[in-house]
Amino acid sequence: MALVSLGKIIWAMGVVAWYLIRRPAERRARRHRIVSNQRSTRDKVGLVSASVGLGLIPGLFALTGFPHEATYSARPISLLLGAVLYAAAMWIFRRTHKELGKNWSISLEIREEHELIASGPYALVRHPMYTSFLLMAGGQAFLLANWIVGLAGFAGFAVLFFLRVDKEEQMMLEFFGSRYREYMRRTKRIIPYVY
Ligand code: SAH
Repeated sequence: MALVSLGKIIWAMGVVAWYLIRRPAERRARRHRIVSNQRSTRDKVGLVSASVGLGLIPGLFALTGFPHEATYSARPISLLLGAVLYAAAMWIFRRTHKELGKNWSISLEIREEHELIASGPYALVRHPMYTSFLLMAGGQAFLLANWIVGLAGFAGFAVLFFLRVDKEEQMMLEFFGSRYREYMRRTKRIIPYVY
């Protein structure tokens, strides 16, 4: 089989894993009432960008090879690296959903009896789910041998992350006050000990 197809198949398996992890979280979250909803147009733009960059564009490439002009030849080492990055992303993605439990939301929301989670991956960074998105973008870039598709994942991640992260921390500070401030002092955002 051509390496380019193998990369596409591994990427598609990653997307299936993504869905299998996300779906139960969505169902569970629906049962817990939202007490503060800070969904905004700004956040919707971020969510759409991430879906386009990490889902639609790579999906289109996997199915049709579009945009053909930007395709290069895949190398085995790239596929291996991409598979490792995507697997790491899914492992962290799963851990964050387990840890957040009913406190998870697709957007910026505070739920009834919202708890401040600071354990598991949240002991290291404040936004480990966004760390997993970044790793996903890295995985995509190595698995799908196309410059535009590779860049699209990082762009989608960046738009979501930078439109959201300040707002999210502001919301958490408003709700949890000094507890979140203290949590911020001992954690980084997405890369342990670095950023
Ligand atoms: N930014 C986090 C969570 C993404 S899900 C991450 O990257 O892992 C977004 C929702 O998670 C937000 O609506 C917020 O209510 C909630 N949230 C974010 N950090 C949290 C924390 N430390 N404890 C509990 N809920 C949190």
